[in-house]
Amino acid sequence: MTITTDNSNPVEIEKFTASASQWWDPEGDLKTLHQVNSLRLELVNKTCSLSNKKVLDVGCGGGIFSESMAAIGADVTAIDLGKELIDIADLHSLDSGVNVNYQCISVEGLAEQHNSTFDVVTCMEMLEHVPDPSSIIQACSKLVKPGGYVFFSTLNRNPKSYLLSIVVAEYMLGMLPKGTHDYSSFIKPSELAAWSRQAGLELIDSRGVEYRPLSQSFTMTNDISMNYICVFKKA
Ligand code: SAH
Repeated sequence: MTITTDNSNPVEIEKFTASASQWWDPEGDLKTLHQVNSLRLELVNKTCSLSNKKVLDVGCGGGIFSESMAAIGADVTAIDLGKELIDIADLHSLDSGVNVNYQCISVEGLAEQHNSTFDVVTCMEMLEHVPDPSSIIQACSKLVKPGGYVFFSTLNRNPKSYLLSIVVAEYMLGMLPKGTHDYSSFIKPSELAAWSRQAGLELIDSRGVEYRPLSQSFTMTNDISMNYICVFKKA
């Protein structure tokens, strides 16, 4: 098992590993990841039918999304730099019987070893936690096969996203632990698209992911002013 620490912020990784034991608790610190999971799974599966596809999930944490893709037939490799998170993910996979190949390695490290290997690469809710998102995007692009799909989800940067995702979600509603997000690391869709274009990825779709407080659930919309997911295809 290789551990490389390029382009990661140890404080960010530590923040997530502190929640490792709660990762699979639908009411715990990672509640919002559980709530949003079926929506993002549906988008990925509708775009590029996951069954029998070779998928890489980058920044997988304890494996909520990785396992759900494997459960519907994808052959999933999932990576994260939080060793405790990979351990939790491995344990959960043993328990559930849903097989995922978890590794503690950076995506840049994996891209040094492999090229055009995966049909689909997903990187959900991670880019806003790394020092250099463009380096992650370059590595994801190198790892996906020509014609393959790459999915990035992150948080837009504007006054509304600051207010709702930090002030309201973290401090007023307690939906996420305080300090989960740093506004300056949020990413505008134009920035994500530009970095991806430089990496040889063509934007084919973007969707907003909106929280509905009354039903305490998420829904997919066309409004990308807050949480959003972009779909790219490698030329
Ligand atoms: N993608 C998962 C988890 C999101 S939480 C999901 O959506 O369900 C963000 C994750 O990114 C954490 O598990 C954290 O450890 C990981 N992370 C942060 N920086 C990273 C980096 N440079 N390389 C790999 N993983 C990273």
